[in-house]
Amino acid sequence: MNISVLTLFPDIIDNYFSHSIGARAVRNGHFNIDIINIRDFSLDKHGKVDDTPFGGGAGMLMMPQPLFDSAEYIKGKHPDTKIIYMSPKGRVLNNNLARELAQYSSITFVCGHYEGVDQRFIDEMVDMELSIGDYVLTGGELAALVSIDAIMRFIPGVIGSEDVHNEESFEDKLLEYPQYTRPAEYKGLKVPEVLSSGHHAKIKKWQREKQLEETLKKRPDLLDIAELSEKDRQYLDKLRKSKKTTK
Ligand code: SAM
Repeated sequence: MNISVLTLFPDIIDNYFSHSIGARAVRNGHFNIDIINIRDFSLDKHGKVDDTPFGGGAGMLMMPQPLFDSAEYIKGKHPDTKIIYMSPKGRVLNNNLARELAQYSSITFVCGHYEGVDQRFIDEMVDMELSIGDYVLTGGELAALVSIDAIMRFIPGVIGSEDVHNEESFEDKLLEYPQYTRPAEYKGLKVPEVLSSGHHAKIKKWQREKQLEETLKKRPDLLDIAELSEKDRQYLDKLRKSKKTTK
C-alpha cells in the first residue's frame, strides 16, 4: 500500500514515522509513505499558499493552485490513489472504516490549515472527506496521523498476530476486557485469580463477562449493535438487575 500526505508541515508527519510501530512498518515494507510539501507546488514567487475568502469572513483559505498541482503530481505517481481531505465536515472515522480503507492500494491524505481549503479543490479532486470527531483542530496533520495509525493496524504484518484484532475494543462492537501483567500482586492489589488458573475456558468466560460489564458501564450504546449470544444477553440482564437492586 502507498500512503501519501499532502501538507504544509511535512516535519510533523515525518517525525511520527521516525518512531515506534509506524517506523518499523515502513522499514519492513508493509507500506510506503510519501510526504509532499504543498508549498513546493506554489507558483507564487514567495511560495504563497493562502488568501482571504471571497465574501469576507475570518481567516485565510488555502488557494486552489498548489492543492490541485500537488494532487495531480500524486495522481501521476499513483493513478488509482483515493484522495481523502481531512475535514470536520467529513465521514467520522471508526474501526470499520479504518479496516475498509486499509484495502486500498493507495491513499492520499490532504491536510488543510487556516480556515480550510478552496471548495473547488474538494469538488474536483477529493474522493472523500474524513473527520476524526466533532471538534475543530487547527490543521489536518494530527487528523491524518490518527487515521493512518488506525488504518495501518489493519495492514497485514504491521502489528504481528491477527488475534490482536479479534480481542480488541470495537472488534465485535464491545469494549475490551481489563488486562493485567506481572507482578501478580502490586501494592496489595491482586490480579484476578482466574487469569493465572491456566483454565482456558474459565478465562474466556471471565473475559467475555468483563467485556459485557465494561461496555454496559462505559458505552451502553454499543450494546444495541453488538453481536450478542443468548448467554451474553442473559448475563447483561443479570447485570442490569443487580444494578437496579444496588441503587
Ligand atoms: N473552517 C473549517 C470548518 O469550520 O469546517 C475548519 C478548518 S480547521 C481550523 C483547519 C483544518 O484542520 C481543516 O482544513 C482540516 O484539514 C483540519 N481539521 C480540523 N478539524 C478536523 C477534524 N475534526 N477532522 C479532520 N480534520 C480536521
